[in-house]
Amino acid sequence: MSDSQVLEKLSQLLGSKGFTSDPDDLAPWTTDWRGRYHGQAAALLSPATTAEVSEIIKIANAHQLTLVPQGGNSGMVAGATPDKSGASCLLSLRRMNRIEMVDAVSRQVRCEAGVVLQNLHEAVAEKGLRFPLTLGGKGSATVGGLISTNAGGTQVLRHGTMRNLVAGVEAVLPDGSIYDGLVPLKKDNRGYDLKHLLIGAEGTIGIVTRATLQLVPALLDRAVAWVAVDTPQDAYALLLAATNALDSALEGFEILPDVALQHVIKHIPGTRRPVESEKGWHVLIELVRDSDDQVAPASLAENFLGQMLEAGLAKDAVIAASEAQAEAFWKIRDSIAEAERAEGPALQHDISVPVSAMARFIETESPQIEERYPGTTVVAFGHLGDGNIHYHVKAPKGATAEEWYARFAQIISADVYDRVTAYGGSISAEHGIGQAKLAEFERLSDPSRLNALRAIKLALDPNGIMNPGKLVPLASKPAAA
Ligand SMILES: Cc1cc2nc3c(=O)[nH]c(=O)nc-3n(C[C@H](O)[C@H](O)[C@H](O)COP(=O)(O)OP(=O)(O)OC[C@H]3O[C@@H](n4cnc5c(N)ncnc54)[C@H](O)[C@@H]3O)c2cc1C
Repeated sequence: MSDSQVLEKLSQLLGSKGFTSDPDDLAPWTTDWRGRYHGQAAALLSPATTAEVSEIIKIANAHQLTLVPQGGNSGMVAGATPDKSGASCLLSLRRMNRIEMVDAVSRQVRCEAGVVLQNLHEAVAEKGLRFPLTLGGKGSATVGGLISTNAGGTQVLRHGTMRNLVAGVEAVLPDGSIYDGLVPLKKDNRGYDLKHLLIGAEGTIGIVTRATLQLVPALLDRAVAWVAVDTPQDAYALLLAATNALDSALEGFEILPDVALQHVIKHIPGTRRPVESEKGWHVLIELVRDSDDQVAPASLAENFLGQMLEAGLAKDAVIAASEAQAEAFWKIRDSIAEAERAEGPALQHDISVPVSAMARFIETESPQIEERYPGTTVVAFGHLGDGNIHYHVKAPKGATAEEWYARFAQIISADVYDRVTAYGGSISAEHGIGQAKLAEFERLSDPSRLNALRAIKLALDPNGIMNPGKLVPLASKPAAA
């Protein structure tokens, strides 16, 4: 069967709502969120049911058609972007966006993979519940994408990553068979855990079609505070003090340098400085209460920050006086990526080292990077409490994006990743490998990890139809041990 006959077959299967090869319809989905990777696709397939996903995959497998799964296309490593050949089809889950059941007793929600995170938040809030994972891309990111990247976000400190919140999954495997693991079993020791294999698999061994997710009680109230500190080490000392004093009330602990705040104020309408201080570092702290027997977060925050100001660790601090102000503080944090994109070219690294070493990493390595690549500025921000920082290196003022990337992207990123590896860290704490980090992943991974990944990929997807060129560096022979 020729390529066009295969596409015709898919078109008949999916109808006009589920199939298009019109270049105008495809255009928004063939470039990654950061606008750095541009691909082409033969068609956009948008199935409405798991059965349709299964039929698509059976056809693709029979005819060696490659598929690129896509949710909201908000991923940061171009994992959902096809290559330039135009031979692959995009497989979008966006039409599968039903929330099937919210169970207030077991505190679980069952939904399809195309549900957008923000819609999930709103739907479960109506039942007095909360899905605790949240992140800046919540208006686009889908449940399937969040599972497939094992997303983190700003509340990991208390609730863990997506892996901790997925109670069950349904997926279509590369041979078209449907794996039904939706029932939320707390204990299940039938060997390899397919659910955990699919979490973080970036669409390379199957399509997540539905999921059962764990919820928590809705918040009764919260206190969101903005604190100015001098250095990352001071922020870390504040984190240790907060962990001791505030225990389970502590839900978020994010840091940012003043330069990140400056970018947000400049580019994001309606944002303003929470505290006067225009140098040093800032910490955003969220304290929560979700049951009546807990102390009110506002008084916890007042006591704690009073002590920190007195001790000289906090230079300035303000507790949001209203929910609107709390949202405004979080908007600053969630807008850093968007503001940076408007400010000019930058190289993004999403890294982790042991929590206790992150402040030292920032303070020691950043000046060295800036000195080695004159004119660059390191903007390190994010989840200090998880030992995970978005470590961005901004181009010198006036640099042209394409020229600067061509000259420096590979060399600077390799330098950053070498330093992370020397600390025993990970070159991908949250966003995955996709195509953006594939070469560095191969260069820096130990052979045992790479060989296991390859073996799993080849066993489950021998025809290589699922998201080729992403996550798994497929060498012709196994890496030497
Ligand atoms: C402003 C902003 C802030 C962000 N902040 C964070 C953050 O703090 N923490 C964090 O972890 N991420 C963050 N992200 C990244 C992004 O939101 C997450 O990676 C998210 O999980 C991607 O979801 P998506 O639906 O857009 O997936 P996509 O980008 O469409 O796809 C991501 C990967 O998953 C695969 N995939 C998608 N759907 C499926 C499916 N149903 N089955 C199998 N594979 C699938 C794709 O092939 C691709 O490899 C941020 C993004 C933005 C834009």
